[in-house]
Amino acid sequence: PSTALGTNGSPLDVLSDFPAIPADWSYLDTAATSQKPQPVIDAITRAYGETYATVHRGVYQRSADMTIAYEAARERVARFIGAGSANEIVFVRGATEAINLVATCWGGTTLKAGDRILLSQLEHHSNIVPWQLLRDRTGIEIDVCPLTADGKIDLDAAEAMLTPQHKLVALAHVSNVLGSVLDVRCAADLAHKVGAKLLVDGCQAVPRLPVDVAALGADFYVFSGHKLYGPSGIGVLWARPELLDAMPPYQGGGSMIDRVSFERTTYAPPPQRFEAGTPHIVGALGLHAAIDYVEGIGLPAIHAHETALVTATREALRGINSVTLFGPEDSAGIVSFAMEGVHPHDIGTILDEGQVAIRAGHHCAQPLMEALGVPATARASFGVYNGLADVDALVRGLERVRRIFG
Ligand code: PMP
Repeated sequence: PSTALGTNGSPLDVLSDFPAIPADWSYLDTAATSQKPQPVIDAITRAYGETYATVHRGVYQRSADMTIAYEAARERVARFIGAGSANEIVFVRGATEAINLVATCWGGTTLKAGDRILLSQLEHHSNIVPWQLLRDRTGIEIDVCPLTADGKIDLDAAEAMLTPQHKLVALAHVSNVLGSVLDVRCAADLAHKVGAKLLVDGCQAVPRLPVDVAALGADFYVFSGHKLYGPSGIGVLWARPELLDAMPPYQGGGSMIDRVSFERTTYAPPPQRFEAGTPHIVGALGLHAAIDYVEGIGLPAIHAHETALVTATREALRGINSVTLFGPEDSAGIVSFAMEGVHPHDIGTILDEGQVAIRAGHHCAQPLMEALGVPATARASFGVYNGLADVDALVRGLERVRRIFG
């Protein structure tokens, strides 16, 4: 990135890579889903428009080439998160499916009544409900780690809560509401000390922090492609190979088998064992292009840029009468807030009239809303395309909200 500021006040100056973001629109909902850069759109267009065929069963060249491209995407994901091998990468629909897969295939065969798992107060519903479904099936107990006063997962509390009955700790790397960053290495050490595994929900981390699963010490790591500037409908489950090897299939169908007869079916090794049916071929190719794109900019540069935007936003919002800020000062890419006497949905609607798109609601984190003592928050979340011009537009919009509501 150049040191000069781009048209929208961003040192990354990549706004022009994003055809779906008009110059007069401030898109501040990247935590929900990111906009797509031209190289990702091109990869998808090329795949459907020029090179399309099925994978893993072609006796013709086009299919063999597509298989190579699909498996190259798996290799690219493995390199991106520091996996030991592409065989540790399972393509899924997204983080939600990845967590359900782990809950069903690992939890359903490993955990039994009386075992405990530890979640945190700030988890996304997708890292709560699959475990409740598992609890209903198996009789496991779910414990909830509280947060520190500034909205981080309280690892001291986690250490005090963990017992040898705990078999799994499942936590968000970065909160989708508060932007709080977890010290994953520390969480892994705490989990492993009592013999538990650590699952990390990396949805909001991979678009902004370099991730190395080996260095982090996680056992499972999951994320969605669509928050990483890639397509929707594709996501990743990484797990330690010995865990994947021991897990039974998630769904049955084509591609996941070794041999099928009506008497007995044997299964393919991971990752194919967990990818029943024709996969989201083009999604994988789009994800490959997205990873190339973010690594082309550089995750340290992205993180530094978003941190500057968060700092500027928090500073500006503190200057607006009756705004409450949630989350830690060092939040990664996300600022949640409330305005006294104004429902977050009204904030969102008025901002939209001024071409500023934020999210308002519970952000699929109702237990966190309860802990914060609010029904909902307004949330501005940043991506590579945002600049200080977007922060200015947000602040102007909020001043208008203030005027309208007196
Ligand atoms: N975890 C976190 C932290 C998220 O932000 C999200 C998406 N909002 C999810 C899980 C679920 O991701 P998806 O809907 O793509 O499966």
